[in-house]
Amino acid sequence: MSNVFAFAETRLGKLRRGGIEAVTAARQVADQVDGHVHAMLAGPAGIGEHAAVLARHGADVVLVLEHDGFANYNPEALAATIAARVGSGYRAAFFAASAQGHDLVARTAGVMGLSYASDVTSFAFGGDAATVTHPGYTNKVIQTFRLSATPALISLRGGAVLPVESAKAGAVEAVSSAVDPGSVRVKVTKTEATGGAKLDLGEAPVIVSGGRGLKEAANFKLVEDLAAAFGNAAVGATRAVTDDGWRPHSDQIGQTGRLVSPDLYIACGISGAIQHLAGMRTSKTIVAINKDKDAPIFKVADYGIVGDVLQVLPVLTEAVKKAKGG
Ligand SMILES: Cc1cc2nc3c(=O)[nH]c(=O)nc-3n(C[C@H](O)[C@H](O)[C@H](O)COP(=O)(O)OP(=O)(O)OC[C@H]3O[C@@H](n4cnc5c(N)ncnc54)[C@H](O)[C@@H]3O)c2cc1C
Repeated sequence: MSNVFAFAETRLGKLRRGGIEAVTAARQVADQVDGHVHAMLAGPAGIGEHAAVLARHGADVVLVLEHDGFANYNPEALAATIAARVGSGYRAAFFAASAQGHDLVARTAGVMGLSYASDVTSFAFGGDAATVTHPGYTNKVIQTFRLSATPALISLRGGAVLPVESAKAGAVEAVSSAVDPGSVRVKVTKTEATGGAKLDLGEAPVIVSGGRGLKEAANFKLVEDLAAAFGNAAVGATRAVTDDGWRPHSDQIGQTGRLVSPDLYIACGISGAIQHLAGMRTSKTIVAINKDKDAPIFKVADYGIVGDVLQVLPVLTEAVKKAKGG
């Protein structure tokens, strides 16, 4: 029996969705190898309060590392602690492919002298190797890697797995840092939310997404206005428009972009190509606006509006503002 490790990422004391996704991924592998999921929470006193959420998503054991030295991200002490832990017979270790997770998985691999796979969109364990996929070259190709090292160190792209509830004991085990958290060379002194409080596509409950039907980059203002009216929405895009430079590549949703599953996904002037659907079809409710009633996006939409997106969007934005009392 081998156990599987998941790093349950938090920021400013809040559990991040990527951390729960890491636990869900670990659960899938643990069920396959008949092992247990050990999920780690690291932070100042009180961080252990998230243990119940991790247990609900399949953690058999929650390793709680509480110390003021982890109030901000402490890369060196965390990597040393995780490396010491997962080096003792774990089959795999999952991290979120967030800015923090990218850094942490690489540092952990460095400490252990192992290879790792980052920004992984799918994984399969068989025999003594793990096979993972990763979109590369600004999402132009999908690369497949075989990880033969144990443990397999993997950071998961947001949305690569959906958080699934699978209640386990979640026995809390207090752990301590492998090195003095105060004696490290890299010290993060402050963590602040960005000014515009731009919501991450992986965390936003609502996504308003635009495609080539918007005609030109400037018309994305209509998409942004609708997102702003919701107040809890992020803006996404198809690859057609990110390739044309209308939006940054980081906004791309789809097979070779972000994988998202918000409560509400509004597709504006998007045809619904299979590669786009691959990144958003698990959204809870899908609304599509397209002038072509036969556009494939309507096959996955719960609600469809056949019309000119440039005319529909301002009306929708006003309606949302009104509904929100603004
Ligand atoms: C290997 C590979 C990977 C890919 N990965 C991705 C990916 O990750 N994500 C992704 O999105 N794509 C991806 N693509 C590209 C994908 O195949 C499509 O080309 C792309 O999704 C199309 O984007 P679009 O819907 O914006 O544009 P189009 O397909 O051009 O569709 C525009 C839509 O807008 C509608 N429209 C036009 N004018 C209006 C109007 N005034 N009002 C309302 N509707 C209007 C049209 O009817 C049409 O349905 C990938 C392709 C390949 C080959």
